Amino acid sequence: MFSKILIANRGEIALRIIRSCREMGIKTVAVYSTADEDSLHVRFADEAVCIGPPASRDSYLNIPRVIAAAEITGAEAIHPGYGFLAENASFSEICADSGLKFIGPRPEMISSMGNKSLAKDTVKRANVPTVPGSDGVVETLEDAVAVVTDIPFPVIIKASAGGGGKGMRIVRDHEGFEKAFMMAKAEAEKSFGNGDLYIEKYIENPRHIEIQILGDQHGNIVHLGERDCSIQRRHQKLIEESPSPAVDDALRARFGDAAVAAARSINYEGAGTIEFLLDASGHFYFMEMNTRVQVEHPVTEQVTGVDIVREQIRIAAGESIADIVLVPNGHSIECRINAEDPEKDFRPSPGTILSWHQPSGFGVRVESHAYQGYTIPSHYDSMIAKLIVHARTRDEAIARMSSALEEFIIEGVKTTIPFQAKVMRSEAFRSGVFDTHFLETFDFR
Ligand code: ADP
Repeated sequence: MFSKILIANRGEIALRIIRSCREMGIKTVAVYSTADEDSLHVRFADEAVCIGPPASRDSYLNIPRVIAAAEITGAEAIHPGYGFLAENASFSEICADSGLKFIGPRPEMISSMGNKSLAKDTVKRANVPTVPGSDGVVETLEDAVAVVTDIPFPVIIKASAGGGGKGMRIVRDHEGFEKAFMMAKAEAEKSFGNGDLYIEKYIENPRHIEIQILGDQHGNIVHLGERDCSIQRRHQKLIEESPSPAVDDALRARFGDAAVAAARSINYEGAGTIEFLLDASGHFYFMEMNTRVQVEHPVTEQVTGVDIVREQIRIAAGESIADIVLVPNGHSIECRINAEDPEKDFRPSPGTILSWHQPSGFGVRVESHAYQGYTIPSHYDSMIAKLIVHARTRDEAIARMSSALEEFIIEGVKTTIPFQAKVMRSEAFRSGVFDTHFLETFDFR
């Protein structure tokens, strides 16, 4: 086992990793930008190294600085968390070349899944159902037009290098298709430095269901059940739960088999998530694979009792996951608490937290790097906490979440708490019958 790990991330996930390391008797090194001097991950790590100014490209995304921090502190492994360098194949490679263990999959696994159209091709060969669409990247406008004569509208144009809900465009008919394609190309080039696009049938009213998997270096691959992430805003997740109210045991088994087959197709190693869309008739389609720990991993931890970060570290150290025993238990929900103003179209609301009281009690978990007096830097994402509950049933979990949201008091900045509370109280959410368009018709004002 490693004796020291560097965490190449910030915020709640950096703290989350520190916690698992401490329990495992592993020393930790935090890295931070000058904007994060007062962040809790800096305080709770055994050592902390400032790696640059606020802009991510000069600090958290600056590979030479991260590697240098690992070298001077004598860390043996690097945990990348999510975002930043977590899905950067060349970072994984540079770690290996520098004699540092990257806690995640090998570079070739990241590359084969990081490019979304390539990923679809790969899993298709393993007989995993994928969303009907173009065969890989569509190079020219003529090719694009040919694709949409084969698959009926509506379609979704996606950037191969896209992520985080960005780089997608829905087109409902021929009229406007050409313009949309050209605009999507320009946008992808600008945002991701890669103009590659592919086209998919737009699945109407799907649920977003994803399967957590773990694979070790000995060929063992297990799945830890599903998460339902259908409550989204502009393709960004806001509330996640496990199990999904739309998935029964038979469907779960089919999802699990497909996810394991997808992971096996690249001999996957580490923690990963296979994302699917589930349509109203019970068909599901592979969408993409994330080769890292997800923001919403805690709901799976709650219902399975498996510490996913601990498993990532054990896998990287060469240990076997054959001993994992799965006894799924109860229901878990996560709300992402963002410093945003739901009344003003979720506009970011950075600033200083004047008061902070976080909920606690039976079945309540908070993952956060914030505290009273903490100033939220404007340079990074706006998530300031994740509130997770666990209960015996979905109804009890909703009641527990409603109560916990009531108790969560944050003053000084606007947050998504009042919005989340309204969702919990709504019949639409309680019924369990909803899809990714939930918010479009939900009146939360
Ligand atoms: P990202 O990597 O940016 O998160 P995803 O490919 O995971 O992008 O898609 C994010 C969300 O976009 C999905 O959860 C779903 O709501 C919507 N979406 C993506 N592809 C389709 C599709 N073919 N049909 C309908 N909705 C889609």
